[in-house]
Amino acid sequence: MNIVLPEESQQDASSAEETSLLVIILDSNPGQKMLRESPHVLTHCVDSVIVFANTHLMQKVQNKLAIMACHSKSSQFIYPDQGKHGDIRQVDGQYEAFTAVEKITKKNLAKVLTSDGSAVITESLLAGAIAMALCYIARLQRTKPPGAKLNCRILVVTGSSCSTSQYMNYMNVFFTAQKQNVVIDVCALDQHLNLLQQGCDITNGLYLKVPQLQGLLQYMMWVFLPEPPIREKLVLPPPLKVDYRAACFCHRQLIDIGYVCSVCLSIFCKFSPICTTCHTVFKMPALPAVKPKKRKKM
Ligand SMILES: [Zn+2]
Ligand SMILES: [Zn+2]
Repeated sequence: MNIVLPEESQQDASSAEETSLLVIILDSNPGQKMLRESPHVLTHCVDSVIVFANTHLMQKVQNKLAIMACHSKSSQFIYPDQGKHGDIRQVDGQYEAFTAVEKITKKNLAKVLTSDGSAVITESLLAGAIAMALCYIARLQRTKPPGAKLNCRILVVTGSSCSTSQYMNYMNVFFTAQKQNVVIDVCALDQHLNLLQQGCDITNGLYLKVPQLQGLLQYMMWVFLPEPPIREKLVLPPPLKVDYRAACFCHRQLIDIGYVCSVCLSIFCKFSPICTTCHTVFKMPALPAVKPKKRKKM
């Protein structure tokens, strides 16, 4: 006798062993333009990120979460941490796990912010933070129980500008993420981010420049909360045209047309007879041959 299961219960059975891991990278560098102008914006962003993170945990009991703080000199995990949390007391009417996310994140973020030196550096180490997140994901993938499925994605929340000095690091992490099937989403708070937008496109993630910071939580809930397989069924902001310019290796500026070393594929904005990366010597481009003029027959 054949028993045909309804489609829905089949889906439930297959998704029961699936775990979704969300790694949030929060740019907490006080040197970013947005925070230099009004430092209190950080509190608003942190609150929105914590509510968003808890909503992710609420969707499914297997869902996992990690939060990182990205700074000008280092990046570190602020949730989960290895310490003991005997001091976290339950708040009436709130689920313990949510209280823990909020308390631990705020406590560790405060540590990161107070340990920072006084020098204002406007550049945040976003590429390094993404690399750390990818290592963390790789470790979890290696140690997960056999048969379990772990879907991973990274959400970058930042108000810094894209620094072209990290161009190579960005490209390395984007293609590594693509290979590991990790989706990178980017929520730009202040400025348009060319390079990170390329990363979203490469890894099939979503890029959103938040039109109004006041509504940050709403934008995050609508755009970044749904899992990547569900997103194709939703009407999300239309994808922008991706600016695929590369940064030259000599001045780290975005260029449309440049010279590429035929040996190591380094990009330069001006012709140089020796590749500065692999030291290959090139011939100077030959001058265009001048055709002898035809004499008119009289
Ligand atoms: Zn150049
Ligand atoms: Zn070369």
